[in-house]
Amino acid sequence: MIPPGETIGILGGGQLGRMLAVAAARLGYRCHVFAPEADSIAAEVCAAHTRAPWTDTQALAAFAADCAVVTYEWENVPVGSLKALGGVPLYPGAHALEVAQDRLSEKQFVTQLGGRTAPFMAVDTPEDLDEALTVIGSPGILKTRREGYDGKGQYRIMYDHEAEGIALTGQAMIFEGFVHFSAEFSVILARAQDGTCVFWDSAENVHEHGILTRSTVPASAAVQAQVAEARALAKQVADALGYVGVAAFEFFATEDGPVFNEMAPRVHNSGHWTIEGALTSQFENHIRAICGLPLGDTRLAATAVEMRNIVGEAAEDWSGILSDPANHLHLYGKAAARPGRKMGHVTRLVL
Ligand code: AMP
Repeated sequence: MIPPGETIGILGGGQLGRMLAVAAARLGYRCHVFAPEADSIAAEVCAAHTRAPWTDTQALAAFAADCAVVTYEWENVPVGSLKALGGVPLYPGAHALEVAQDRLSEKQFVTQLGGRTAPFMAVDTPEDLDEALTVIGSPGILKTRREGYDGKGQYRIMYDHEAEGIALTGQAMIFEGFVHFSAEFSVILARAQDGTCVFWDSAENVHEHGILTRSTVPASAAVQAQVAEARALAKQVADALGYVGVAAFEFFATEDGPVFNEMAPRVHNSGHWTIEGALTSQFENHIRAICGLPLGDTRLAATAVEMRNIVGEAAEDWSGILSDPANHLHLYGKAAARPGRKMGHVTRLVL
């Protein structure tokens, strides 16, 4: 167990790191963020910030020397950089990061365990894309294997001829058959160092242009009917990875049952509702898991919860939101609003 008062290292400097640091502070820990950017919104609420590129092994080693345990809030941390952390415990481990940061390897990992995914093929060349369209067929989605998020790096191919206009840049891609789903939902779990696993209620998620806009709990009956199977798969994946911490698994609810889309080896936007909506939040349980503390109760703290993301430049009426006592406002402190940028979220509780 890492005693309170010790320092937790967080790789990545965004809003997830910020909310992890707030949860860690409540348990008496101090946090040290490693992030290349000057204006890290996580570092703003942490005791220390190492600002250096991911390739700076000396800076990574010095950062690790200040930490009792290290975690990450961003799944694109280069796996090679982790070696520079030396012997300090890293949770979740490097293997989980490696599997989850490549859409091809995560789908292969899940299918090997018997999970259902969209049909998929690796695409590196125009010939590979032709073959994928022959074998899987349109409609489908061509995605970058790495570093795509919030719908970035994705091309929808509704008809075969639309593939002709896509200039492959040499980046490794994956082509996925289009899944006809009735809803999207996520399974979020926390796994402790002794293998104990807890789940939060599954949120039903709505995405617009590939960006999560709303998560609702409880999910519809159609989704709830698929949660047990999805949880069993998520637990199998977490056990196989020897996972420690919070992980999120996104699923499509379909006529054939839950179809796995992707996993995040970290706390997740579709779990932000747990800050007020559950007895223990995803952020607190992540800190508990990586520090070797017992996991907290994940049950609902309300009858119903809705989380809405505040995205882009839309002017919001903060006092209007705050004047309704059902609302809980979270702003991430980002200076510049840009289209598609997550600026904060509002959680609404029905008690
Ligand atoms: P992703 O970046 O993989 O999470 O994709 C973002 C969103 O695009 C998902 O939440 C879905 O709404 C949609 N999407 C992604 N992959 C597929 C697929 N194979 N079939 C249908 N919709 C998809």
